[in-house]
Amino acid sequence: MDQEFYKSSPEMITAHYGEEYERYYNAIVPPIYMNSLNIFPNIDAYFDADKFDKHTYIYGRVQNPTVRILEDKLAALEHGCASYVFSSGMAAATTAVQATVKAGGNIVCIRNAYGPLANYVSEHCPAAMGTTITWVEGNSVEEFKEAITENTQLVILESPASVTFFLQDIAAVAELAHAVGAKVYIDNTFCTPVYQNPLDLGADIVMHTISKYLGGHSDVIGGVLVVKDPDFAKVVADKRELLGGIIGPMEAWLTLRGVRTLSVRVPAHGAAALKVAQYLENHPKVRKVNYPGLESFPQHELYKKQMRGCTGLLSFEIEGTKEQAKQIVNSLKVFKIGVSWGGFESLACMPMLRLSDEKAQWMGGDQNTIRLHIGLEGVDALIADLDDALANI
Ligand SMILES: *Cc1c(COP(=O)(O)O)cnc(C)c1O
Repeated sequence: MDQEFYKSSPEMITAHYGEEYERYYNAIVPPIYMNSLNIFPNIDAYFDADKFDKHTYIYGRVQNPTVRILEDKLAALEHGCASYVFSSGMAAATTAVQATVKAGGNIVCIRNAYGPLANYVSEHCPAAMGTTITWVEGNSVEEFKEAITENTQLVILESPASVTFFLQDIAAVAELAHAVGAKVYIDNTFCTPVYQNPLDLGADIVMHTISKYLGGHSDVIGGVLVVKDPDFAKVVADKRELLGGIIGPMEAWLTLRGVRTLSVRVPAHGAAALKVAQYLENHPKVRKVNYPGLESFPQHELYKKQMRGCTGLLSFEIEGTKEQAKQIVNSLKVFKIGVSWGGFESLACMPMLRLSDEKAQWMGGDQNTIRLHIGLEGVDALIADLDDALANI
């Protein structure tokens, strides 16, 4: 079957695209190619092998057939020309920085970027590569206009950012970045390809951590970069080979299994999260709810412009002290306490609790911000759990 036929929808892509059944005995599920190398009929064939050819396999740090099927699907889902899957989201993110930034260059980054990536570009990169960093809140295009200069090589976005849920205007930022030859990187983990396709809006690199919704079952750590320029794709492929961050075949296979149901799971998380957000918004002890899908969200217009829906992560602040916020989190029963999100389970966390008050405000949040991931236990049980916990304070 012509693979283009299967590109018609996200559902079709996750079900059938990139699977060339005839290559593996017509099994409906591909095998886990658990091998580190591939062999050749003669030494010239080995030397002449083209590592960029889709069906040429040489060595497992470069490419693997199970990984390749996943990469074909993720590239198609994000409307890119190629994707590269990594052993973690951070392996993907740091490889993207190394593929785009040269010594002495400038990086423009939102204040709420994923913490370890923010540390990497603000501490490691200046020390190792002499780069500079310019922080932006990210809510206004004007701010980017001032921050992006001739020396800017990379703009790091995450929209919505995963604690405060502020959005950035992707198309407007891409235009400013491209005017100085900089690339735009965006962490699209929150939206998934189901609800936002940043490459269509002008971004150059889309990153997802597979550990969240793409894996979807809290049993895999992985990450992906999707790009739209074929020449730049080769740069990323070379960097991954050099830095060695490719995902293992077993994890790639688990991710393939996870993405089969992406288009079913993501709207289910989103529908439940909207109900929880509306419940919290109307609760007298809640001061503020951060969820772009709410009509009252300050950037709801931008939300409608660049997103097609909202997933299962939100945060809120109570009318009260951080001790009371801790008490709420500690008395939840269905929500478990833990980092990460994107799996079947509901989770509560306080990402800013141990930051200084100053740092939390700088990031646009508060020490008492409670972040919830809305899982698939059923929304009535989740609201009842929150209702009991809020009644305790
Ligand atoms: C978890 C997370 C990451 C990092 O992914 P890992 O797979 O843990 O390395 C990056 N961005 C966001 C938004 C995340 O939530």
